[in-house]
Amino acid sequence: MAQTGSFNPYEMARAQFDRVADMIAMDAGARELLRTPMREYHFTMPVRMDDGTVRLFQGFRVQHNDARGPAKGGIRFHPQETIDTVRALAMWMTWKCAAVDIPLGGGKGGVICDPHNLSLREQEGICRAWIRQVSRDIGPLIDVPAPDVMTSGQHMLWMLDEYEWIHRGRYPGVITGKPVGMGGSLGRKEATGYGVVYTLREALKELNLRPENTTASVQGFGNVGQHAIQLYGQIGGVVTCVSCWDQEDQTSHSYVKRDGIDLDQLRSITDRFGGIDKSKAQDLGYERLGGDAWLEQDVDILIPAALEHQITQANVDRISRRVKIMAEGANGPTTPDADRVLHERGVFVIPDLVANAGGVTCSYFEQVQSNTNYYWEMDEVLGKLDVKMTSAFLAMSELARRQKLYTRDAAYVLAVNRVAQAAHERGWV
Ligand code: NAD
Repeated sequence: MAQTGSFNPYEMARAQFDRVADMIAMDAGARELLRTPMREYHFTMPVRMDDGTVRLFQGFRVQHNDARGPAKGGIRFHPQETIDTVRALAMWMTWKCAAVDIPLGGGKGGVICDPHNLSLREQEGICRAWIRQVSRDIGPLIDVPAPDVMTSGQHMLWMLDEYEWIHRGRYPGVITGKPVGMGGSLGRKEATGYGVVYTLREALKELNLRPENTTASVQGFGNVGQHAIQLYGQIGGVVTCVSCWDQEDQTSHSYVKRDGIDLDQLRSITDRFGGIDKSKAQDLGYERLGGDAWLEQDVDILIPAALEHQITQANVDRISRRVKIMAEGANGPTTPDADRVLHERGVFVIPDLVANAGGVTCSYFEQVQSNTNYYWEMDEVLGKLDVKMTSAFLAMSELARRQKLYTRDAAYVLAVNRVAQAAHERGWV
């Protein structure tokens, strides 16, 4: 399901924040500051296309709040990108960095474009144009972008290169998600999906469930989905359904194999955007169902790892009664009304700001390595990632138990309190 209709992610992000601000009786000054982005950049970028014509693209960067450290957040290339999506994602980044207690604020960027229809050279043009627009407003100590939907290490490297031409020096700490060997961190590719599973592992322990006795259904088969499936498989779980977007059909499909999907086999028929080749999948014995079928599966665990606004009032009732845990790999996949239903049904939700914080945590590790020009081994990165993710999960679940809060509320209370405290201590509010 694509982002449709009147759904506005920024309104949703603000509504979530307002609820938490009420819960913790936040003072009016902090409340106004924290529900508003501190800085926004909107710009138009002329880019020369392969056929010699010039096309204009709309770009954004939003720095929601940097009270706890430089802003941090990805850059998304998407045809339906809107400033309100970017604002919402920037705000969620502020809470996410605070939820895992790393010294960073929240930012997000985007370009309205569809990389499916752009050559790599044209995408490079967009990356360089984007940096030229914000080169004075980002930096290792100001705001550090990263990849997001439909952007990769290659895009980050073009952006780094443009920044370094402008600033005449080597600044690998200005951007994260760079390729390994070019300032990237080992483990960054795996970090978000693995992080989802580190928190899932802890949730399973709390519910006294053994991973090998569970099954899962995953929405999205890109970076996050594939790595989550990999580690969940390693700890013994079985994924029986994945869904993804089909560019040709302009809709999403779900692929089901009751005895478990074969990750490597599916990867071999998947394009770089995480789109599975439907005829090859059917040849391999996968049953192809509609886009929403992933959430109707009779499984123990749901992992939304595609886009925001996927579990809504309209489809939440189709979730099987067997589902015990939902680990939000994507940002904002669940609308507040659907969330209430999950809460009432007693589903253990690991909210996005904890579940998918592995990516930003590893980005932070990458920044630390880049700024010190000393790079860690894979085991060291993943070990530190596990410690951070597990501590964030335990802090959330402990607060939830102690104050009888819903897990999402507990994560928000922890995060929002930390940001408000930093703003207070700086004397901003
Ligand atoms: P990606 O571009 O690698 O993959 C996205 C996947 O979602 C693809 O398989 C695509 O086909 C699928 N998809 C897109 N629209 C869909 C739809 N309507 N229905 C079903 N499937 C659909 O992106 P990613 O990096 O894996 O990111 C996925 C989500 O995780 C996003 O919400 C992103 O903001 C969030 N996230 C990513 C990271 C990261 O490190 N990559 C970190 C934190 C959060």
